[in-house]
Amino acid sequence: MARSKTKSFQTETKQLLQLMIHSLYSNKEIFLRELVSNSSDALDKLRFNAIEDNKLLEGDAELKININLNSQNNTVTISDNGIGMTEEEIIENIGTIAKSGTAQFLSEMTGDKKKDSNLIGQFGVGFYSVFMVAEKVSVHSRSALAKAEDAVMWESSGEDTYQLSNIPKEDRGTKITIHLNEDNKEFSELMRVKFLLQKYSQYINFPLILNPEEGESETINDSEAIWLKSKRSVKDDEYKEFYKFISYDSNDPLKWIHNKVEGKQEYSSLLFIPEKSPYDLWNRDTPRGIKLFIQRVFIMDDAAHFLPLYLRFIKGVVDSSDLPLNVSREILQDHPLVDSIKKGLTKRVLDTLKKMQKDQPEDYQTFWKEFGLVIKEGPAEDYENAESIAELFLFASTANDGSNVETTLDQYIERMNADDEKIYYSIADTYEAAANSPHIEHLKANDTEVLILTDRIDEWLMTTLMQYKGKSLINIAKEELDESAKKPRVTKEKQEVIDKMKKSLDSRVSDVIPSSRLVDSAACLVLSKDEPGAQLKRILEASGQTFEESKPVFEVNLKHKLIKKLSSMSGKEFTNFSQFLFDYAVIAEGGSPKDPAKYLRQLDKYLG
Ligand code: ADP
Ligand code: MG
Repeated sequence: MARSKTKSFQTETKQLLQLMIHSLYSNKEIFLRELVSNSSDALDKLRFNAIEDNKLLEGDAELKININLNSQNNTVTISDNGIGMTEEEIIENIGTIAKSGTAQFLSEMTGDKKKDSNLIGQFGVGFYSVFMVAEKVSVHSRSALAKAEDAVMWESSGEDTYQLSNIPKEDRGTKITIHLNEDNKEFSELMRVKFLLQKYSQYINFPLILNPEEGESETINDSEAIWLKSKRSVKDDEYKEFYKFISYDSNDPLKWIHNKVEGKQEYSSLLFIPEKSPYDLWNRDTPRGIKLFIQRVFIMDDAAHFLPLYLRFIKGVVDSSDLPLNVSREILQDHPLVDSIKKGLTKRVLDTLKKMQKDQPEDYQTFWKEFGLVIKEGPAEDYENAESIAELFLFASTANDGSNVETTLDQYIERMNADDEKIYYSIADTYEAAANSPHIEHLKANDTEVLILTDRIDEWLMTTLMQYKGKSLINIAKEELDESAKKPRVTKEKQEVIDKMKKSLDSRVSDVIPSSRLVDSAACLVLSKDEPGAQLKRILEASGQTFEESKPVFEVNLKHKLIKKLSSMSGKEFTNFSQFLFDYAVIAEGGSPKDPAKYLRQLDKYLG
């Protein structure tokens, strides 16, 4: 036998191993799930490669995973006849080079054992979890392309190093022997292992055969794909378990959508809406949760092209009968069949959400709280479905003041007078600022409903939509608000005051006009129709745009006592008080005066 060589793990891998051994052990049973899933991946890869090169399957076409137990020696052995690994591949995959997910995995650790052990699978560091239970692990592997004498053995006790040697191996694939440590002998017991395989590996798509020391071998799973079964034959619990199996989420899904499409194009899909958002929801570049199968052959994880980005939280499986087996991500990108599947799935998800909103409002609230912000990206990405997406929105509103109930746009329309054409909304960073904005005083006085928007993308969203079911969406902080409102009467004296104010505020406002919208407040600032508000400006600035300082229209309430007070002033005093009123309006919008100290000094003075 060839001499063995000793190699060292990289620092990050060492850290990971330490973490596995010393901190994550409370959920150590998952090592079995991880190793079985690696075997299943290896079988998927072999089957996929055999599409091009049928010789790969020769003499050993029955793909399967065997688990052997030996409680005498305290070992568990997991073997597959999958793609196997060459020496280089072993070094790359479970050896010297820390995998790309390792650093991120380490940084995502939360301390919550259950969550953290689910992350193991998500970050592709599953293999190392075996060291939670093992004092030594031996991997024998022969690549499907290699000869019997060119197999390799990898061995490690999970400390700083591992050994590699050349060995002969009769059959293709990988065999992993786990020497259990003193505390973990239970994992060589038949009933324990059987229970765990049923719990975690039920949905593996290859036969999973458990071989006890004595007695009959037993196939543990039903390797028929759940998504190909008829809806009626699948129980709720099976859907839930399958969701957990593919998503590494420990919560039940909120909802699933199982469909078979026949006709011009054939595909089956099983999609899940999670209850909780994943840790990477806001990373718009991360891979997405759809697994692609073609004619039952696993093709790829993270098939991003089958759903729009605003539905990126959906997990599930698509199995197409028509796509070519040799697709690549590039081919998927502009394949017409992919596009039509994407349309179909999108519609199904939107319909399901709409139905949930109607029939299970509480579930829908849960959903909206977790994913509402992502759904709001929808109209900009998916113009065709903009209106169906907007049907899903929930907003706070002056109609249900103070209560937690949010309204849909359709409910708003139902409450409108038949001839009203406008849906009004008020935007600010907080509910209070938006709901008490001076801009909506006269609407409130008329009992006109106003939506209260506080999400950071709301202004951008409403600007994108512009209208909903024929009704214009109107930002109450902008001009053109109300042709309907009575224009205030302006006497000659009052017009003089207005003109003087314009002069005093010359550099900061584009105009000063008498307001028809103010009831209780003295003044407010109104943006021109085409100008982005504070919220949208922040988004645009973050993306690199710059703006000149805006010059809003300054609207004043001529009936207000502060304006009356102003009328009695002159000279420097008039100028100062005008500027004070301007800052007053800035504050009412949730902004802050340029010179807060000066504002306070003035306030003191006027109060005195
Ligand atoms: P992941 O499975 O997410 O890639 P793991 O840590 O579980 O991360 O496995 C690391 C890599 O080791 C796999 O990607 C695969 O290349 C290789 N590997 C592990 N087990 C096997 C196996 N049974 N057969 C072939 N390759 C394997
Ligand atoms: Mg794995």
